[in-house]
Amino acid sequence: MTTSEDCIFCKIVRGEIPSAKVFEDDVVMAFMDIYPLNTGHCLLIPKDHYTNMFDVDKDVLAHMARRLADLTRMVNNAFDPDGVLNTIANGSGAGQEVPHLHIHVIPRNRGANFGFRFPDDYREEMANPDELAQIAKKISKAS
Ligand code: 5GP
Ligand code: ZN
Repeated sequence: MTTSEDCIFCKIVRGEIPSAKVFEDDVVMAFMDIYPLNTGHCLLIPKDHYTNMFDVDKDVLAHMARRLADLTRMVNNAFDPDGVLNTIANGSGAGQEVPHLHIHVIPRNRGANFGFRFPDDYREEMANPDELAQIAKKISKAS
């Protein structure tokens, strides 16, 4: 198993610090977030240490995706919220604080004071199609 000695989530996987576990298998673990944004806010992590989407093994990620579908449905069934957010921050600039890949699963009700939001005025100016084509090309060439 790939571990990082001082990583909080690796310590949770090793049982060195406590957590409220929802489920685990050979590859992943789901547990409750210690500072929940809402009742039922939990985290899905790989048991091996990967920092984020930039270094994760794709087979591990594929397994995480399957278990994410399970966890999201379970949280939805348990709390019957208006919706459930799945979020991943990759890097501190995106808001990642714990440098071990994790997917937030957060029940959300309409009007909640958290969530992924676009600014109110974001639709004022539509992008130029030629510029979008150039940007798409730049991304498609950047493997
Ligand atoms: P990030 O901002 O990196 O996407 O989210 C990290 C999450 O980990 C935060 O929501 C935070 O509350 C949670 N967290 C940080 N330390 C611990 C811990 O020791 N135990 C648990 N269960 N969650 C933690
Ligand atoms: Zn770790």
